[in-house]
Amino acid sequence: MKKNIVSVHRARAPHMVGDGLPVRNVFSYTDLGKRELSPFLMLDYGMPSQFKPTEEILGVGMHPHRGFETVTLAFQGRLQHRDTAGNHGEIGPGDVQWMTAGSGVLHEELHAPAFRKSGGTLQMLQLWVNLPAELKMTQPRYQTLENVDIPVVELGGARVRVISGSLGETQGPAHTFTPINLWDVQLGAGEVNLSVPEDYTTALFVMEGKVTVNGAREVEDSTIVVLEKKGTDILVSASADARFIVLNGQPIDEPVVGYGPFVMNTQEQIAEAMKDYSAGRFAGAKR
Ligand code: MN
Repeated sequence: MKKNIVSVHRARAPHMVGDGLPVRNVFSYTDLGKRELSPFLMLDYGMPSQFKPTEEILGVGMHPHRGFETVTLAFQGRLQHRDTAGNHGEIGPGDVQWMTAGSGVLHEELHAPAFRKSGGTLQMLQLWVNLPAELKMTQPRYQTLENVDIPVVELGGARVRVISGSLGETQGPAHTFTPINLWDVQLGAGEVNLSVPEDYTTALFVMEGKVTVNGAREVEDSTIVVLEKKGTDILVSASADARFIVLNGQPIDEPVVGYGPFVMNTQEQIAEAMKDYSAGRFAGAKR
């Protein structure tokens, strides 16, 4: 059965995260991410942006997170990550970094040294994925998913990269705490029918080009389409190259209380997070 469209939202005007990550916010835990798009809390789109060669260290310096996961998809350019749980790495085109902040971690997200030197185009996405209440204080974890390890499924006119969850028999490499299908779909002129589990949250974020959903609604880039939970099938067509991300996951039916980089279930837990952070009680964060 076809999934109907619930709503369509254009990403907000660009703002700078730190001093080197220009993004357009698509949704956050104060709007669609509060409940409607659970388990997804926030999505920032780092639209293609040009950087000149520089010696300057650009990006976002050390900052904390608790209670959820940050998932960074790199499309162009290279980012470097380091956190106080002792993890570090670089991601470039096609790579994904899946960080579980859990009980608390501080990290920096910077332009990689080689990208700083060469300059060029940076294009990325950052998605925040919620953790269920009983896992919010889980130990921090870090997964680098390299492009070569992300399987590609040819489906209709589409090329689908399965980052997490599955598509048909194909499994994505990311380990998730709740069931999440995260797909990166490139579509040429043509169409693709995507089938997803009934009752899961489903949204399409159109990154590039223009697509038509269910043969009726034309959607331009930097726009998210929210689909109803009922039904299983979405028909997406395009008349030229397009790229969109499928967010599909089992909803976590729990209260979302967020404050900046902390997303918990209650105000008391937010207060506790702030206290623990200032007291240096996040992973490896001695002060
Ligand atoms: Mn961060």
